Amino acid sequence: MIHVTNLRKQFKDLVVLDGIDIDVKQGEVVAIIGPSGSGKSTLLRCLNLLESPDTGRIEIGQAALDAQKYSRKEAHHLRQQTAMVFQNYNLFKNRTALQNVTESLIITKKMKQSEADKIGLALLEQVGLAHKADSYPITLSGGQQQRVAIARALAVDPHAILLDEPTSALDPELVAEVLQVIKAIVEKRTTMLIVTHEMAFARQVADRIIFMADGKIVEQGTPEEIFDRPQNQRTQRFLQQIT
Ligand code: ADP
Ligand code: MG
Repeated sequence: MIHVTNLRKQFKDLVVLDGIDIDVKQGEVVAIIGPSGSGKSTLLRCLNLLESPDTGRIEIGQAALDAQKYSRKEAHHLRQQTAMVFQNYNLFKNRTALQNVTESLIITKKMKQSEADKIGLALLEQVGLAHKADSYPITLSGGQQQRVAIARALAVDPHAILLDEPTSALDPELVAEVLQVIKAIVEKRTTMLIVTHEMAFARQVADRIIFMADGKIVEQGTPEEIFDRPQNQRTQRFLQQIT
């Protein structure tokens, strides 16, 4: 499903991704953890070309490209394989919840309004927000906005969903509702890469944990392997610091 080989990215002199290899199977849920600045966001952003990687190869779903030479068509195709959920929701402020969800269906998938609305409402229902379909983002809580963003990500029926710290901008009392919605998606076996600081959540939902530091994958394994018996000193130190 996702196959990344030797991905590298540098910002000026700073090496941010230092030869990343990742394989994610269809339906697998992988949580990426690691200290701030270790390259987790850059990694997700490279997978949908929000950042352009310097070298390496990315294969997702039916798309594949070589970072050093790719056409606009290949880039477009790769972007269509994933949907991203950001820390700060990134909803269109001048569109209702429903319009946020249906936008891609109408623009990219060329769906009729009525058909898109039907799917959009069903997705809002799935995240418990059908009753907010006509509300604008500013009138919604952070948790509700993030749930709309998740419904929007699901709308394009992507091969994989990339979530970058989906709960870290939320007030503590709003975290649970968003994690609940993500859990429900996980149960449908949607392929997912999720950067998170919610270790209890990662342990519960992830098939595999990847620990990153300094642009490298330092260690990976099952939640039990990583949380209960980490082998690498840096993983051990990181886990000690946060608990
Ligand atoms: P993480 O998500 O693990 O906290 P990031 O991927 O956001 O880490 O950042 C990794 C490093 O790359 C950090 O040192 C950050 O300051 C730097 N960085 C990220 N984006 C940019 C950018 N657009 N320009 C320059 N440096 C960047
Ligand atoms: Mg980040």
